[in-house]
Amino acid sequence: MGNHVLIVGAGLYGSVMARELTDAGCKCCVIERRNHIGGNCYTEHVEEAGCHRHAYGPHIFHTNSEDIWNYMNQFCSFNSYVHRGKSLCKGKLYSLPINLSTFYEVYGVKTPDEARMRLEEVRVQTGDVDNLEDWCLGEIGPELYELLVKGYTIKQWRKDPRELSASIIKRLPVRLNFDDNYFRDRFQGIPIGGYTRIFERLLEGVSVELEVDFMSDRDGWMSRFDHIIYTGPIDAFFDYSEGLLEYRSLRFENEILDTVDYQGASIINCGDIEVPYTRTIEHKHFDLDYSKARTLVTKEYPQDWYEGRERYYPISTSNNAETYQKYRELAVSLDLPVTFGGRLGQYKYFDMHQVVAAALTKSRQLLARDFKSFKKEN
Ligand code: FAD
Repeated sequence: MGNHVLIVGAGLYGSVMARELTDAGCKCCVIERRNHIGGNCYTEHVEEAGCHRHAYGPHIFHTNSEDIWNYMNQFCSFNSYVHRGKSLCKGKLYSLPINLSTFYEVYGVKTPDEARMRLEEVRVQTGDVDNLEDWCLGEIGPELYELLVKGYTIKQWRKDPRELSASIIKRLPVRLNFDDNYFRDRFQGIPIGGYTRIFERLLEGVSVELEVDFMSDRDGWMSRFDHIIYTGPIDAFFDYSEGLLEYRSLRFENEILDTVDYQGASIINCGDIEVPYTRTIEHKHFDLDYSKARTLVTKEYPQDWYEGRERYYPISTSNNAETYQKYRELAVSLDLPVTFGGRLGQYKYFDMHQVVAAALTKSRQLLARDFKSFKKEN
């Protein structure tokens, strides 16, 4: 094969691509704007607290696919962590995702039948299920919506929930039993030794250059490689010619505390609108290691995104969807030897297992044909 491929971004999409293409005989070079590999999955060990800090927000690996699970297990071992959420609202703790414990905490009902009947009473059908608020009113009624969803959503997105697509919330289950496992998937866990180790293994034998921004010499890089895998922001690639894609950003405040266990769980959401952070993260609960007397706690504050801040969440509005579509059309019409992949390249929130699956599929497609004739189908 022997194609010479440049991969822009050492996140999960870029690193899986690098592994697959290198193993198939391509010569890959990865460039990364940041000073570390791992993209938003990056973790670093914090000796004082004896845990790994999830530097860009808490990451729980989960998948229903045995193939993806086995693929990841080539590069790490997962511990037995199971995510069970909690939300602190108006001074009281509630179980998340919504389950029979939550119904008990809010309404005092004790059985699945009582919870079902209560749900039927409180649901409000508005006729519009496309926006987040109306969808929630139709699913869980005003009380649960206002307590657990509304404030959190407004803080997270700084938009009226009626302007947001219901797709953001649809993946959150509502259960009438006591199952408080956040995910429905068959497999979940946290990599033992942190996420960064996975990337070290994915990138073994691959040339990686850190603190290199593709955009500072885009045309130069394009001229030197047969194909580019670009996992940066698609609007930046095209010099924002079709307009700016909006993101939400985050800010993290970290604190080491002199206690073994500060909050008893890895993540506690805060739904109160007057509290500026959305959740507190206690990282040692991910590692399941309680050997140190101190603990690392992070408060996560949503904030507006502008150039210079990290892009975290694409914002799911019709305007952004139209702008993204224009970039897609531009990419196809220009017939560039570029694959746009990952959350920034495709302007879409993806869970990690989805990113791995997408990179594996795309790498197989690329390898099945000559890269240079791949242009139009990317
Ligand atoms: P990234 O990780 O963003 O990698 C892209 C890389 O490209 C970055 O390192 C960036 O610096 C680099 N780059 C960009 N532009 C350039 C350029 N011009 N030149 C060079 N390099 C460039 N998923 C889960 O499955 N479970 C979770 O619990 C979970 N929690 C999350 C929590 C938060 C707060 C967020 C924001 C996401 C979470 N995710 C979770 C999603 C997960 O982070 C993504 O699926 C994954 O990181 C996407 O990988 P990626 O390679 O597409 O993007």
